[in-house]
Amino acid sequence: MSVVGSPGAARGPGAAGGSAPHEAHPAGNLAVAARGLTRVYEVRRGVLRKPGRLQAVGGISFAIEAGRTLAVVGESGCGKSTLARVVAMIKPPSAGELLLGGVDAVHAAPTERRKLRKTAQMVFQNPYGSLNPRKRIGAILEAPLEINPTLDAAARSERARAMLAKVGLRPEHYERYPHMFSGGQRQRIAIARALMLEPALVVADEPVSALDVSVQAQVLNLMADLQRDLGLAYLFISHDLAVVRYLAHEVLVMYLGLALEQGAKERIFARPLHPYTQALLASTPGLAGTPRLQRIVLKGELPSPLDPPQGCVFSTRCPHAIARCRDERPSPRLLDERLVACHLAENFLESGHTADRNPGLRSSQPSL
Ligand code: SF4
Repeated sequence: MSVVGSPGAARGPGAAGGSAPHEAHPAGNLAVAARGLTRVYEVRRGVLRKPGRLQAVGGISFAIEAGRTLAVVGESGCGKSTLARVVAMIKPPSAGELLLGGVDAVHAAPTERRKLRKTAQMVFQNPYGSLNPRKRIGAILEAPLEINPTLDAAARSERARAMLAKVGLRPEHYERYPHMFSGGQRQRIAIARALMLEPALVVADEPVSALDVSVQAQVLNLMADLQRDLGLAYLFISHDLAVVRYLAHEVLVMYLGLALEQGAKERIFARPLHPYTQALLASTPGLAGTPRLQRIVLKGELPSPLDPPQGCVFSTRCPHAIARCRDERPSPRLLDERLVACHLAENFLESGHTADRNPGLRSSQPSL
């Protein structure tokens, strides 16, 4: 992932060769590029009040090459799932550009849109709800192929059986129903279904958060293997920084629909510059290799996206907020090889400061 138009955008992914029926996507290919992607909802607030304007996603830009993973992190309600649905073409953006494989997905004609939808497939959080309980696994996997008139039933069945093997399931599973599988196996089936149309991009919305920790590792390993073998690009939505640290190449930290910090995983985990990123990292114990961050306990809830703070969106919870923060919204700027939207980021970088200096906040020193 690189910010669109930034010098790092052409970095090679190092994707490995493919295997039938997939072909690996060539190195250096941009699977997806977004510029200023925005999604706004009009929210009714009663008969006498004017509808409110809820900006779920506010001008997000990124690019993901084949074989790379961009993880989007943030609290519930920050807009990351809406972003996932816009990128997967489930919801249209209100503004901004979305290129899938270099093709404009926002202004494409209906026929072109149908083709583009195949290139970005989604894996959902709940492996229990996302599979039709009345259909056998073979039928579930073959359903996306039915739009292809050149494939007969035998060819569809062959592809479905090959995909089962690719995701680590056995041939006899083809005839079974979803309720006969564990959560981890169901998520393997959901991943297999997403790959049936040979997408370049998989948008995964909290794909392991409903699974036991031991099973999470197996599914993450599978995703990593599939990415290596098929050159897949992942837009990976998660609130779990340990999971993000394992799978991501780049990280985008979202808050109230905006990107607060965005860059290479190593940079952000080694030295988070935005106070919100610092708070997220400090609240995740056991992240070996991250700096010792004094724990910042965020006060209060995420502000309502219907009435976001005027200046910096994090100013109502930030322990470092100054008067300027409440008046002026910081623009993202390049600093220490990542984008960061904070007026005081240079100060944090110079001083190496990542600790809570507000005595009014509860703090502790977890061992990281
Ligand atoms: Fe905190 Fe101000 Fe930076 Fe916002 S701009 S994160 S309120 S220091």
